[in-house]
Amino acid sequence: MKRLSLITLVSLLLTILATASTKDTPDIRIARFLDGKSAAISYTYDDGYIEHLRCVAPEMEKNSFRGTFWVNGTTHEGNANNQKDSSRLSWAQAKELHLRGHEVSNHGWSHKNLKRISNEEIKIEIERNDSVIEANIGIRPTTYCYAYNAKDANIQAMASKGRVGTRTKQKGFGRKATREGMLDWVHEQIESGDWGVAMMHGIHYGYDAFTDVNVLWQHFTDVRYLSDLIWVGTFKDVAAYVTERDSVHLTIRQKRNKTIITPSLGLDSNLFTMPLTLEIPRSDKHSVTIKQDKKVLKPLILSNRILVNFNPFGGPVTIRY
Ligand SMILES: [Zn+2]
Repeated sequence: MKRLSLITLVSLLLTILATASTKDTPDIRIARFLDGKSAAISYTYDDGYIEHLRCVAPEMEKNSFRGTFWVNGTTHEGNANNQKDSSRLSWAQAKELHLRGHEVSNHGWSHKNLKRISNEEIKIEIERNDSVIEANIGIRPTTYCYAYNAKDANIQAMASKGRVGTRTKQKGFGRKATREGMLDWVHEQIESGDWGVAMMHGIHYGYDAFTDVNVLWQHFTDVRYLSDLIWVGTFKDVAAYVTERDSVHLTIRQKRNKTIITPSLGLDSNLFTMPLTLEIPRSDKHSVTIKQDKKVLKPLILSNRILVNFNPFGGPVTIRY
């Protein structure tokens, strides 16, 4: 009789605790995109034209944007005076893009259609270009862009090994692009909470060059005005964020004036290095202190929510009210 009542008491207590913790756990979640933005855009440029450095990079940088430039090793061999195609970047110029914060990544060694070659040749297209980019720029690519966007399940599996992502969807802009059309596309990303990947080639000349280059420069200004809603990030940064966001698991516990969020993420922490953003509902209490691994994290306090970036591979995040 005594034993039974003890069990009853314990189970009653557990029920109360469980109910209380469910009721009191704040609605904390991972933001859809970095810094709580509604959508993300990556501007990607194929084939390594010189004007990507001379014209595109400065216009993007004016707006604090960084782009992704996909290059083919065969067109960048030698120096600027000894190139196979003088309209292409030299390795020194490609490295300059990297040093200015842009992503320089793999578009295949010789721009071969991977659907038309053997597995051994596919491996060469991918790995030889990784190595030559690493040798000349100092960074091994962690993304891949298929020449002619040609891929199948086998090619995609081969190209995805050891990477944060490969370009599997894109919206092309060039000859037919208009300022209105480009802006409509951005609004579509905001409405659907999606990641838009723009694909461009030539700017003034070359494949699918813009009829009026001002369309692109004005577009960057249009997007800058939407910066509260849009994260413009390199392909590798957005790809990493999205994969981490969709893979992380949070355990949330409430203890009096403290919320403890324990992340667990089963990805390679050497490859996936983007912080994730926590979205915390804002309470009436005036101040919060947020810490992870003994470091104080700096939150962005908005009218209805608090945003804070944290390391998804790190220890528990503690929010003290
Ligand atoms: Zn290409």
